[in-house]
Amino acid sequence: MKTISILGSTGSIGTQTLEVVEEQKDLKVAALAAGSNITLLERQIRKFHPSLVAVWEEKKAKELRENVKDLNVKVVSGMEGLLEAATVAEAEIVVTAVVGMIGIRPTIAAIEAGKDIALANKETLVTAGHLIMPLAREHGVQILPVDSEHSAIFQSLNGERRDKIGKILLTASGGPFRGRKRGELENIQVEDALKHPNWSMGQKITIDSATLVNKGLEVIEAKWLFGVGLDQIQVVVQPQSVIHSMVEFEDGAVIAQLGTPDMKLPIQYALFYPERRFLGGKRLDFAQLGQITFEEPDMETFLGLPLAMEAARKGGSMTTVFNAANERAVSKFLRRKVSFLQIYDMISECMERHHLIENPTLDQILETEQEVYDFIESRW
Ligand code: NDP
Ligand code: MG
Repeated sequence: MKTISILGSTGSIGTQTLEVVEEQKDLKVAALAAGSNITLLERQIRKFHPSLVAVWEEKKAKELRENVKDLNVKVVSGMEGLLEAATVAEAEIVVTAVVGMIGIRPTIAAIEAGKDIALANKETLVTAGHLIMPLAREHGVQILPVDSEHSAIFQSLNGERRDKIGKILLTASGGPFRGRKRGELENIQVEDALKHPNWSMGQKITIDSATLVNKGLEVIEAKWLFGVGLDQIQVVVQPQSVIHSMVEFEDGAVIAQLGTPDMKLPIQYALFYPERRFLGGKRLDFAQLGQITFEEPDMETFLGLPLAMEAARKGGSMTTVFNAANERAVSKFLRRKVSFLQIYDMISECMERHHLIENPTLDQILETEQEVYDFIESRW
């Protein structure tokens, strides 16, 4: 029996993680955390019996406490509550599936408490990878990727030495607007951007996939997870989302992981690593698929990727600026306050005016985040 905690249990990754718990009979849930969806959270509590539940909003936590008072579960709230869920004694693995850099502090706390991390929350590595990776080594805990591309790379590296990596070939679907030019993106509506061709995900990452910011975040995530240089990561557009990513080794051999798009595979792989378990569902049918095609990413139209590369090259606090500006920009786009293309303007303007901090501490990362938020509020 393995015991897990799930931060972000009501979201896309969180609910799929609970499906894996339901299918595999030897996982136990110690704690769950969510933002405000207490209706779904209550259903999850009644089904999976965690001893601790964290709700971000105190008002909602209070309501939930009342609703589950017949059960033996402690309901906590705010950042303190999230940290408690991340460090609850029984859990061996913490699934970080909250969205955004709110995940930094709980991820650090979980590592310090000796928990392995099944990491979906890429924003944490993008902004604090230089703190997280050494901390994980220091505490002897594993960072197991849940992001499908990074899981594919992780699987391709099985039995291989990391110092034999030539390069990582990070695949991208290209998003719903692949093939369009800048002028054709001017009038993109929220509904258009929320239609991803191959994956069904939370709203923020779906917009990130449309801008290619997601692929930029993933380049930085890969750099930290696999300890490679930026020049060793190549983004390849593979519109069918069948090849989840590949590794080219020193001798020219390329090893890839393929499959139908289903996040339960990387979630399950992270939870049981190094064991592989049965997972039902559709198998790849190559004859029916016919072909797998490849393209270069369009870096002139989809500025999410080149802006991320620039932030990664500058390093230090710049990746926090890139990420924080994007988080706010996407939230404003979803509320129809700014246009699709303004997301790029907001990120690049924030990056331009930032004075780089080379090796930011956690406090400096959080201060940088706040500065970006304040600037965006004053400007857009
Ligand atoms: P969703 O928006 O679907 O879910 C986000 C989850 O986080 C919800 O449970 C939400 O709770 C919770 N949450 C939000 N704010 C807080 C907070 N302040 N405190 C506690 N919980 C909070 O996101 P996804 O599942 O799509 O994505 C989660 C992470 O995984 C992201 O970092 C994303 O980039 C990454 N990822 C996602 C993939 C996917 O297929 N969805 C693929 C690869 C990576 P509530 O519902 O109550 O608001
Ligand atoms: Mg991904």
